[in-house]
Amino acid sequence: MTNVPTCPRCLGGLRPPDLWSDQWRCERHGDVSPWHQATATPELALRKLADTATVPVWVPSPMPVHWYVGGIGWAGDDRAGARAVALAAAGPSPVGGPADMLLVAESPGTGLGARLAGIPGPDPEQLDTLPEAKVEAAGHPTALWPVGCPRDRTAFVGEAGGVWLWLLLWPADAALLLMEHLVLEDLRDRSTLADRLLFGAPTDRLSTPVPGPGNTAQGDTDGG
Ligand SMILES: [Zn+2]
Repeated sequence: MTNVPTCPRCLGGLRPPDLWSDQWRCERHGDVSPWHQATATPELALRKLADTATVPVWVPSPMPVHWYVGGIGWAGDDRAGARAVALAAAGPSPVGGPADMLLVAESPGTGLGARLAGIPGPDPEQLDTLPEAKVEAAGHPTALWPVGCPRDRTAFVGEAGGVWLWLLLWPADAALLLMEHLVLEDLRDRSTLADRLLFGAPTDRLSTPVPGPGNTAQGDTDGG
């Protein structure tokens, strides 16, 4: 159902648990929660996560008009459960052209949202500005702070359900979507929502690689 697990922070190969350690290990990042992407059957993966994840499984409800689910990923193993879940959606940008959205719930220290946002991580830097966006998450108004990131995307982060909530959009001006009232539901509470989700062509945003040096902060990619 999935590819060989990789590091959620760098997509590098992992040393699996063995006699000496029960952890998956990345040479660069040490012990990590192994990252998986559903390949053939994202719908099944989503339903399984709704039963087993230790973090919220966020889905927009309703989806923005003409948007669909384009991928599911998670970090964790069967023993400990998923400590990060990412849903990729795609559809028309409010300003025209195609757009992508990633919703990530993750326990602090996982580093998945940071990789997808294009920042070093594993967690966001101190959020000392004012929140710039708001969504409703499982019935709670949830403030989102902007995160400095490469200019091809917009990244927001907040806290919901006791863990990080990342909301990433490509291209950056697709952030206009947040001017509408975006409501997120946790599929763990509302499993029947999965029946109403539309699944479409896979998107590659979940494979967004870790940024190289000099490509980690807003401004560095100016002119690109
Ligand atoms: Zn790594």
